[in-house]
Amino acid sequence: MSLLPTDSLSTPRFVGLPSFMRLAMATRLEDLDAAIIGLPSDSGAPYRTGARFAPNALRAMSVMLRPINPYRGGVNIFEELRVADAGDANVVPGYEIESLTQLEHALAAVVGAGVVPFSIGGDHSVSLAGLRAVAARHGPLALVHFDSHSDTWDSYFDGKRYSAGTMFRRAVEEGIVDPARSIQVGLRGSLFQPTDVSQSVDLGFHVITCDEMFAMGFPAVAAKIAERAGGHAAYLSFDLDFVDPAYAPGVETPECGGPSARETLGLLRTLQGLRLVGADVVELNPLYDGPGQITALLGATVMAELLAILAEERRDARSKTKAKTPDSEERT
Ligand code: MN
Ligand code: MN
Repeated sequence: MSLLPTDSLSTPRFVGLPSFMRLAMATRLEDLDAAIIGLPSDSGAPYRTGARFAPNALRAMSVMLRPINPYRGGVNIFEELRVADAGDANVVPGYEIESLTQLEHALAAVVGAGVVPFSIGGDHSVSLAGLRAVAARHGPLALVHFDSHSDTWDSYFDGKRYSAGTMFRRAVEEGIVDPARSIQVGLRGSLFQPTDVSQSVDLGFHVITCDEMFAMGFPAVAAKIAERAGGHAAYLSFDLDFVDPAYAPGVETPECGGPSARETLGLLRTLQGLRLVGADVVELNPLYDGPGQITALLGATVMAELLAILAEERRDARSKTKAKTPDSEERT
């Protein structure tokens, strides 16, 4: 069964309803390898709300993207993976805990069908729903986290424990993330307390700050990510404020001094050895995006890079299986 997206060489990009990368809308999850799912909640946003509008803003810009990724051996994402757009999970605006329950319910249906969820947020707290749903099937996960913030604070605003700044501490407490296999990359900027970075290390995460990332170089960063998370069931979470606000202004909490769009994509294209069982791109706030919707375009492009990681892994796994058939053994 073919699930190729609409061909933009025969049907122009502005024709039709904008699903992610012009994919078919999912009818039966069981037929899929991966699904795009929108998590339009911003009830966990401590600062600029508006990420509720992000899934459709990402879909609108994603019509620009083409199926072949030349940076991963020319892999055609949709020849290796059956992918569809599963639409959006439901939410309860203004009610963070109730929204997380709704998001987890929708994600559990995806994961329960054996499908890898590629979620488009939403503020970053939606990752907790993703981690819960995916860990319920795969056990404690290796978290690969790109962000200018640690998101491991304990609480905000008089003890409120669920927000876009606390969910990775909650995930460790819930036992759904294995911090010893996890890594945070890109932290920078001013702090609330001197312990804002070391609190992640105290939880067991490995942390590569933005300055360390540039000092090490991307191949060394990718090697460290593979050393921590490689081969294990991994969940990749990409907060768009990882990127410098000159390239990604449309986010909840921009942080100056980050990597450019080119550097960000260069790093993602260097990643190897990840076994992705879930991923998300979060924190797009279309209300603050620049002319040309540059943040939404970059967010959609990042998601396509993450799909390509899974597509390449599946292609390589298939070619290994092929190489092991008795036929080829006779020849060698
Ligand atoms: Mn974040
Ligand atoms: Mn952030």
